[in-house]
Formats: sequence, structure tokens, C-alpha cells
Amino acid sequence: MLKSLVRIIKAGTATQKEILPDQSPESRGLPAVNRDAWENRDRERGYDWTKLCPTGAITVRQSDSKDELDLDLDLGRCIACGLCPDISPEGIIEKNLSTKTAVKNRRDLILSTGQPKEKTSQNPAPPQAKENIFQGSVAIRVVSTGCSACDLEVSAAFNPIFDMERFGIQLVASPRLADILMVTGPVGKGMQKALMRTYEAMPEPRLVIAVGSCAISGGMHGEKNYASTGGVDAILPVDAYVPGCPPHPWSIIHAVMTVMDHKQLSK
Ligand code: SF4
Repeated sequence: MLKSLVRIIKAGTATQKEILPDQSPESRGLPAVNRDAWENRDRERGYDWTKLCPTGAITVRQSDSKDELDLDLDLGRCIACGLCPDISPEGIIEKNLSTKTAVKNRRDLILSTGQPKEKTSQNPAPPQAKENIFQGSVAIRVVSTGCSACDLEVSAAFNPIFDMERFGIQLVASPRLADILMVTGPVGKGMQKALMRTYEAMPEPRLVIAVGSCAISGGMHGEKNYASTGGVDAILPVDAYVPGCPPHPWSIIHAVMTVMDHKQLSK
């Protein structure tokens, strides 16, 4: 007994004190678009951007003014393979190690050289202070619809290192007790009905969070096809999107805090 107590005391506290810290420099993180590098690029070299990304997350299109090209990078389709920040010429695509990556609107996941500079960051604006009934605490029901990597990160978000429960966020087994439906995976056709029934069993008001590129866009499984609905928002209203494949546990916590307008976010 005494030995166990000594071991526990020596182990100290594993829980990270800093809230939503950046990932370590050796991590892959997510890509970010450097608008200045794009504007100053060597136009003669004509890079084939469309072949760069395995999921087609990077596209080049005529700019709105028609006399230039713009590059769009859809974080909702990005599987965070780390390729483009490594090989992108002239630093046009860089690594973003922030864990504050969740957004409320799908369109905010599209980083573009055509947007105003402040919009090219993937970090969302801090939430506006307002009355939110979820501000104090929330209960989450997780439904995995076809992939397990994000589930592991959701589990990790509740381990002693990240300790999501300290923010008033709990997992529940029954949708009837849940405020938030957290969905991972591309919503395989076999899971569509189960997902809908889970959502319908939840009391209102209820929120939905799509975790990972599969849940946002189908990811590697592709857009709507014979086996997949191509993302949760094809069948349910989504209140927050967490990009990544899989997202970092802090990013999952960031999504829940974002829909709660948690006071920790405005600190
Ligand atoms: S990091 Fe994302 S956007 Fe870049 S090549 Fe990989 S999947 Fe595509």
C-alpha cells in the first residue's frame, strides 16, 4: 500500500496544463497556404498542383478577376499526409502546427490564395461571447461510421494527458442523454440508418460534430458513392468540423469547446 502511494506521488500529474498548445515541431500538423509566397512565385515554372495531392484537396482555378490563378486547399479533404508542405515549391504550402483547427462552417476549411490575408489562416476567429445553453457542460455520444483512427483520438482526448472531462465534457452511452453527436468515419451506407436513428433519439437542442476528413468529405473513401455518403453533412446538419486524418486530441477538444463557446477559448 505504502509502495503504491509512493509510486503514485512520484509519478506526478500527467495532465497537460497548457490548453490547446501547438503540436511539436516534428509533427506533420496540417497544411496552410502562404499567400505571399503564392503571389511572388515563379510563374514560368507552371507547377502541376493537381497531381500533388492524393485526395485532390488542392486545386488551381481562375481567380475572380480572371487574370490570375488562385490555389485552393480544402482541409476537409486533406488526410494530413504531410506531402505538400514538404515538397511544395517556394514555401507556398507550409506546415501549421496549431491544434485550434475546428471550424463551424464547412467553407472555412477551404484555404485559398484568393481570400483576404486574414482568412488564409486555418485557425477560426475566437467565438463571440453569447448566451449558450451548452456553456456549462455537455454530454457526447460517439458514433463510428466506418473508420477507427479518429475513434482512438477521441478516446485519447479523455485520457489523463488531455482530460477532456475537466472542461465539463462527458461521454455517454445513450443518445437519449446526449447533447452532442460526434461522428467519425465516412458514413458507410450500412451505418446511415443507425446514425439517423441515434440522432433522432437525442433530445433537442442537439449538436453534431464531424471528426476527421472521412466524416467531413469522405476522405480516402471518396465523395458520395455506392458504399459511402461522402460525409456527415450529406444527411445531418453539422455544427463543427475537425480536419485531420486523424485529428489531434486537442483539436477534438477544440471542436467541442467551440460549439460550447467555452470560456477557456476567450482566455
Ligand atoms: S497534406 Fe493534405 S493537402 Fe497536402 S498533399 Fe497531403 S492530403 Fe493533400
